[in-house]
Amino acid sequence: MKVYKFGGASVRNAEGVRNLRNIIDDEQNLFIIVSAMGKTTNALERVFEGVQRGDREKSAAEIARLREYHAAIIDDLWHGPTRLERVEALFAELDRVAAETQYRAADAELWYDTIVAFGELLSTTVVSEYLASAGVANHWVDMRRALVTQQRHKDASVDIDASAFRLLAEVEGAAETIFVGQGFIGGAPDGTTTLGREGSDYSAAVVANILGAESMSVWKDVDGVLNADPKTFPDAEQIKELNYLDTIELAYSGAQIIHPKTIKPLQNKNIPLYVRPFGDKRKPGTVIRGTSAPVTVPILILKKDQVFLTVRSRDFSFVLEEKFATIFSLLERYRIKTNLIHNSAVNLGLCVDNSWHIDEAVAEFRNEGFDVM
Ligand code: ASP
Ligand code: MG
Repeated sequence: MKVYKFGGASVRNAEGVRNLRNIIDDEQNLFIIVSAMGKTTNALERVFEGVQRGDREKSAAEIARLREYHAAIIDDLWHGPTRLERVEALFAELDRVAAETQYRAADAELWYDTIVAFGELLSTTVVSEYLASAGVANHWVDMRRALVTQQRHKDASVDIDASAFRLLAEVEGAAETIFVGQGFIGGAPDGTTTLGREGSDYSAAVVANILGAESMSVWKDVDGVLNADPKTFPDAEQIKELNYLDTIELAYSGAQIIHPKTIKPLQNKNIPLYVRPFGDKRKPGTVIRGTSAPVTVPILILKKDQVFLTVRSRDFSFVLEEKFATIFSLLERYRIKTNLIHNSAVNLGLCVDNSWHIDEAVAEFRNEGFDVM
């Protein structure tokens, strides 16, 4: 079995869906993970905001736009006005959720997940129906049932052991050898969960792990992994091979190649990951695996929206090291991500991601006897 993952940009229009079909070609034993089409997840976040604020009109308007957007792709794929019953049913359900949810703040995250999951439910339904109509028999998998996750909404991790039985049963019980499943979503006892924005790569890695896949490929709008974002650094060069550890470092530091949670499930089963250009499947892309030739070009990552904090102990303690535990557990409590650390005799410099909680954390530092700039 191989696992292919197609992101939202790849399936943002009918041409992309047709190209997906070309990439599959006459392959068998393939598990395809698909993200929501184009910017659908962002639009669904706005549907949720409407529900949250009691602004039903806003939600309804966003859903109407999504209906039109998906209808246009379907009409293009089927060469004329076409209604897919399963797509209609999903929109009817989304309408119902948006209109009937009695919003309670305690359930906000559950409702967020329930609503945004429709993006992937829709995209996989369109892709699955289109493949079938183009002669590619396939089996649509409801990942809300196949992947068991923690009950931690908006950022759940998959319980691989608990999911293995379900996913294997689904795959082994099917007559088809091509599977189409949603990225980004899973299920917990209380309902739908999502795995964090851009989480479809991680879904694909979990599937590859469970199925013991020979490889996983992520099809992207670049030729492979580059040493920098070409939009910012026009001289960016492609890297031919990388190892898992370097890739985790890159993903963690914000290189937008792959979701950081993707590598571990692959590494545990030593499954190679290919990052390949969606536009030209003959190109080799980048391969990521256990060992690789050393990377000879410097890697540049531009991180935006950073905050630089200088922390100093008010008693001028020269051994700030002793206070590291206090400082870092406080950052952890507010889930503030630290990117760079610099310490001198009396100062600790921290470059952190901006967050809603910076001010609270700073106040707390001051309570604990630190000066903060
Ligand atoms: N559709 C989700 C998002 O936009 C997941 C993904 O694209 O991987 O975040
Ligand atoms: Mg996406």
